[in-house]
Amino acid sequence: MKSYCRFYSLALMVLLTAAACSKSQPASDSAAAVQTASAIAPTPSPSTSASVPTPNIDGQKVLQYTKEVVAFGSRPAGSPAHEKLEQYIVSKLKGVDVEQDKFTAQTPAGRFPINNIIAKFPGKKNGIIVVAGHYDTNYPLPKSYVGANDGGSSTALLLALADQLRGKERDGYSVWLVWTDGEEAFVKWTDDDSLYGTKHLAQKWNADGTARKIKAFILVDMIGDTDLDIQRDSNSTPWLTDVVEQAATNLGYQSHFFRQTVGMDDDHIPFAKIGVPVVDLIDYTYGYNNVFHHSPEDTIDKLSAQSLAITSDVVMETIELVDQR
Ligand SMILES: [Zn+2]
Repeated sequence: MKSYCRFYSLALMVLLTAAACSKSQPASDSAAAVQTASAIAPTPSPSTSASVPTPNIDGQKVLQYTKEVVAFGSRPAGSPAHEKLEQYIVSKLKGVDVEQDKFTAQTPAGRFPINNIIAKFPGKKNGIIVVAGHYDTNYPLPKSYVGANDGGSSTALLLALADQLRGKERDGYSVWLVWTDGEEAFVKWTDDDSLYGTKHLAQKWNADGTARKIKAFILVDMIGDTDLDIQRDSNSTPWLTDVVEQAATNLGYQSHFFRQTVGMDDDHIPFAKIGVPVVDLIDYTYGYNNVFHHSPEDTIDKLSAQSLAITSDVVMETIELVDQR
């Protein structure tokens, strides 16, 4: 994915962060105000506050899934490790209605097989909530790159959600989990060289009428950072972003959400373009100045079970809130 804020130089970033990338609360506009506020106000902590529910999803389980995914090594589209990961994901979905959206993508680096994996959990209400996240890793990066957060965390979160949804009758909307493929660029990120899987799926679902049934498209990307700080995305649908904020607040996790605003180019964009309500949950501050992003440093030790549980729970709560709308 790409953030528009990344276009600024480091110096400009420092100067413009408050103006361009952060428009959260008027009282928290300056870094000083934020620091003062956090120094005097107790930070909500799910482990210490009795009023906050304990996570429903076992973060250790999500972390374990992430480790298993990362163990395949670098997983770019077309690689043997990618194929093993496809088999691994499908093997975790026994008894679930699974569809695989396979096609060949023409990229600046040649032709590559792409496969979006879709797991469908039926609900009684007429409509679909999609939760998506990419499972491919960046193609041009060296083999030492394993993408624990970028690709690994989203793959694992969806597997944990599948465990939650499996075998339960849903009163709300159907939930479809989508492991998206070909999110990453094959040479260099441009509008043409990126988002191969979701461009294909959005076109397909637009043509067959599925898109009109989608009540919400919730994207997760890079959501396992120990220092979890998910930005508000200006390219996401405002009302759905507000629902996520409500979900985070309900669970006492609001301190991890939306302190800054960025404009993200990610797998939600092809669906936004066809009129589907979308939200991108992404923490694009992975290490100082996002230094671990697309770096061999994107390894499992940078992630925490707590962060994975927080994001997973907020996604589940968001699903519940959309069900009630
Ligand atoms: Zn990436």
